[in-house]
Amino acid sequence: SIFEYAPAPESRAVVDIAPSYGLFIDGEFTEAADGQVFKTVSPATEEVLSEVARAGEADVERAVKAARKAFVGWSALPGAERAKYLFRIARIIQERSRELAVLETLDNGKPIRETRDADLPLVAAHFFYYAGWADKLSHAGYGTDPRPLGVAGQVIPWNFPLLMLAWKIAPALATGNTVVLKPAETTPLSALFFADICRQAGLPKGVVNILPGYGDAGAALVAHPDVNKVAFTGSTAVGKQIARTVAGTDKKLTLELGGKGANIVFDDAPVDQAVEGIVTGIFFNQGQVCCAGSRLLVQESVADELIASLKRRLATLRLGDPLDKNTDIGAINSAEQLARITALTEQGEQEGAERWSAPCELPSSGYWFAPTLFTGVTQAHTVARDEIFGPVLSVLTFRTPDEAVAKANNTQYGLSAGIWTEKGSRILAVANKLRAGVVWSNTFNKFDPASPFGGYKESGFGREGGRHGLEAYLDV
Ligand code: NAD
Repeated sequence: SIFEYAPAPESRAVVDIAPSYGLFIDGEFTEAADGQVFKTVSPATEEVLSEVARAGEADVERAVKAARKAFVGWSALPGAERAKYLFRIARIIQERSRELAVLETLDNGKPIRETRDADLPLVAAHFFYYAGWADKLSHAGYGTDPRPLGVAGQVIPWNFPLLMLAWKIAPALATGNTVVLKPAETTPLSALFFADICRQAGLPKGVVNILPGYGDAGAALVAHPDVNKVAFTGSTAVGKQIARTVAGTDKKLTLELGGKGANIVFDDAPVDQAVEGIVTGIFFNQGQVCCAGSRLLVQESVADELIASLKRRLATLRLGDPLDKNTDIGAINSAEQLARITALTEQGEQEGAERWSAPCELPSSGYWFAPTLFTGVTQAHTVARDEIFGPVLSVLTFRTPDEAVAKANNTQYGLSAGIWTEKGSRILAVANKLRAGVVWSNTFNKFDPASPFGGYKESGFGREGGRHGLEAYLDV
């Protein structure tokens, strides 16, 4: 399939990382106006990978101006012409997939098997998918001449750097908007390589602008009066701040924030299959996933058997060099994130939950955390309530389906859930009562560009992906 591009095991020699990178504004790489730079490190080794220009307010000004200018021509192009650029970008991503997978693994710390087999194929798939929509907008119920909004200001996190970029940029360009995107400060490199891909694809100057930097640049972008649409993925705290900034303006806003997903296992579920799904649900990308299945709700009668089986499976996970294709658990993205995970797990112990960590040796440099389970957890425990965003699973039990639903919904979040049972009727009945944007059954963490994604409650609002993802970028 065109969506599956699985190259051989990796050495870092396949990617050529320059000692320094600029901002990408109006089709050119350029220094920050005030000359500021920051270093990006490999979280697995703490090696400095590169020095990157740090955007400030003056750079946001320049980038938004470039995007505004480019909007005139880009929005006037026939959809079929915009589609050609998006198809070209998708193909270049496939051609450069190996290089980008290694780059992403180096800058983020996640295992190469994930970047190679999940992130990169999905990145290409998003560009293919939205390329296909660009000349069909009038067929999607948006009228004969649906209008793009203008300049989109997009701020993304570090957990899926290139995939979050694809979720944001592909629908924006397909609908005729231009973009200023700020990647996260710990993972700027793949967005800068994407800037190079835009040049390679011949994308008109200014249609995509990339501003590596910190929260101050994100805040300036979101507040800029000439930005018409704001799209944010990240923490609920920053999401709320952005909502306040945007309130009272004419900007459109979508927020994709935190989660505390429940993975619900009923007594008739096949244990081995459920264990694999639980592992994927919480240990994929070291649990640094907004839709992670971070709460396991297991029916009381099978809890002991399931937990024993889960511990045996966790003891086999291989933690270590993210470039090794046999690695299951890579590095935590940053020292700050490791400190957050550590603090929340210590609080779990202090509050009386029972901690178990997989027996594995942690490398002496870099940021690492062993796969960890908390049992004896109640709904009042912090580890059952707060998003940990790490490889930590909190186990709760239930007796009846109604109790499972009540516990699953007892959270400020509403992004994801999973149901494990042989009974189709139960899947439908339970799924309909869950306040979660996505409910998987007998699987977890499955993604498709054709499927809308987004949250209830404090997990945010708006949908990305699928036909619904177009609406966020159009005046209908
Ligand atoms: P964050 O929300 O601080 O950062 C996300 C992005 O927002 C980054 O690009 C950052 O530079 C930018 N940003 C920060 N402050 C901003 C502001 N005031 N205005 C505009 N942009 C701003 O997330 P974090 O500090 O990297 O992680 C903290 C917690 O957030 C994690 O522990 C996790 O719980 C959660 N998180 C969730 C997701 C998700 O996918 N929903 C992703 C990353 C982090």
